[in-house]
Amino acid sequence: MDKVKIATAWLDCCSGCHMSFLDIDEAIVDLASKVEFARSPITDIKQFTPVDVGIVEGSVSNTENEEVIKALRANCKILMAWGDCACFGGLFALRNLFTKEEILQRGFVDTESTQDGHIPSSDELPALLDQVKPVNQVVKVDCYVPGCPPSATAIGYALGELLEGRIPVVPADIMTFD
Ligand code: SF4
Repeated sequence: MDKVKIATAWLDCCSGCHMSFLDIDEAIVDLASKVEFARSPITDIKQFTPVDVGIVEGSVSNTENEEVIKALRANCKILMAWGDCACFGGLFALRNLFTKEEILQRGFVDTESTQDGHIPSSDELPALLDQVKPVNQVVKVDCYVPGCPPSATAIGYALGELLEGRIPVVPADIMTFD
């Protein structure tokens, strides 16, 4: 049987969801016999290629995040959102309480430890979006694994369901952190 091809991406995030995936421990050995990771922070492959399953961690906060999630969506048959940031906006959406100008001013100029600060500006830097968004406000998402981070049990369950050809609906009692 051909291996299931998986690509993963992280957007505006802390990488905790990918770390929780690694917490599936020895189950990763069994998984490795069934899946092949393409573009992912785990493989450090940067280019998107067509895959069966796309997995995304993090919210959409800047123009680069938008480009990455659109490219992942265009290259995967099923897109799964990992974690509260990807599912709902999460921690990073707290900045929606302020304007992006206020955020930049506070972060780069007004913090008590900053001297002679300035807001960086370059065509090479991704621009902040006005609002931080969950992934499904930018592209279609097929399934969700909530949690901050999602428990390794929930991630393992969701991957197992996908490998069985089912769209996972994670039971509430395994959503909590292991
Ligand atoms: S859901 Fe939690 S663990 Fe995952 S990226 Fe967001 S803050 Fe980090």
